[in-house]
Amino acid sequence: MLQIDKDLCIGCGICESQCAFGGIQVADGTARVGDSCTLCGACVDACEVGALSITGTEKSMQMNLADWSGVWVYCEFRRGELAQVSLELLGIGRKLADVRRVPLSAVLMGHETGDAAEKLIGHGADTVYRVEDSALALFTDDMYGAVMTALILKHRPEIVLAGATAIGRSFIPGVATRLHTGLTADCTKLEIRSDDGALLQTRPAFGGNIMATIECPSTRPQMATVRPRVMKALEFDTLRTGRIVDVAPPADQLRSRIEVIESVASEGAKVNIQESDILVSGGRGLDSERGFVLIEELAKALNADVSASRAAVDAGWISYPHQVGQTGKTVAPKLYIACGISGAIQHVAGMQSADTIVAINRDRNAPIFDVADFGIVGDLYEVIPKLIAKIEEHRGS
Ligand SMILES: Cc1cc2nc3c(=O)[nH]c(=O)nc-3n(C[C@H](O)[C@H](O)[C@H](O)COP(=O)(O)OP(=O)(O)OC[C@H]3O[C@@H](n4cnc5c(N)ncnc54)[C@H](O)[C@@H]3O)c2cc1C
Repeated sequence: MLQIDKDLCIGCGICESQCAFGGIQVADGTARVGDSCTLCGACVDACEVGALSITGTEKSMQMNLADWSGVWVYCEFRRGELAQVSLELLGIGRKLADVRRVPLSAVLMGHETGDAAEKLIGHGADTVYRVEDSALALFTDDMYGAVMTALILKHRPEIVLAGATAIGRSFIPGVATRLHTGLTADCTKLEIRSDDGALLQTRPAFGGNIMATIECPSTRPQMATVRPRVMKALEFDTLRTGRIVDVAPPADQLRSRIEVIESVASEGAKVNIQESDILVSGGRGLDSERGFVLIEELAKALNADVSASRAAVDAGWISYPHQVGQTGKTVAPKLYIACGISGAIQHVAGMQSADTIVAINRDRNAPIFDVADFGIVGDLYEVIPKLIAKIEEHRGS
């Protein structure tokens, strides 16, 4: 239990401000423990005079997991659009919620979100918590984190999912920290264990050499981020109905320590290889930056986009937004043509979901041929011009 040494307590209130659960209050100059204390220990760590301590009971025995119910998805809205990953997460969220027989809710934050809430319902949400405020027009960690944390504490969902995008990666870990719960980043598979409803969160570990399944057994919510293009969105259903709950956060949640002076779209925003139907990808086998001129010619002939392995990006031949793989982007085009790429596990992790994979490599034993549907053994500088000529000949006829 949480014990307060009244002789040491100076009633400063730091413990109260650190508690995410409203489990400790200061009254008459001393701290008092309330029913909602989860024994998370945040107040103990924060107390500067050492007046607080936890004795005896484990935290896991204290948090009543049954108080938490429902599946939530944080749905990212930027520059007037919903992020595609949000719809993909509603797809997997729907499956998890149906197994648990609980509602699926979406959290939509931003300004002038238009019909985004209705779109989320059409893609699987039962309820949308819509937080519209001009203060939320530009993303800041602290504001988005405060609003999300408060909503979770109020409604207590058992599962919270978010996209492993720049925004999701930026503020969701802070939300998990404030809630004193676990977060598994970059999951590639999410399942429910039927006997106890635990969320089984699978992700690559040890450089992609093993798949680790992670659980969050003693705290709620169970939180996970998922990269774009890993899960499948449901088709938009015009007949689906749901509830839109407008939330007006108190002023203190909408105050940020960060002043956004300007928001500039990066090159990454212009090149979105995750949306491409056809990708022509170049690796170290190109031998120099000039190799990408050939790759671009092939891409142009196929009306495709250009992507790359990390080796090509690290060599400075092409910019990072083009990188496919574990530390780059996960792509799922209809056609992926790997040119001079060996097929390292970290690269394959990002492109193995492509419908058709073609590999061009002069080493017949290159591991890329293990995942390729069609393999061409040869020098890419000989093969690619012939391919382009064939494509143009075919087009002409
Ligand atoms: C933690 C971690 C994360 C990583 N993340 C990523 C990631 O996100 N994406 C990624 O790609 N890698 C990643 N890597 C690096 C990865 O392990 C490989 O080093 C990298 O993918 C190799 O790139 P490559 O295939 O272009 O080069 P190489 O492995 O050097 O392969 C070059 C290939 O080109 C062939 N070749 C050479 N010349 C020609 C020619 N003229 N014609 C035809 N074929 C030719 C060779 O036979 C060879 O197979 C990561 C590594 C680690 C440790």
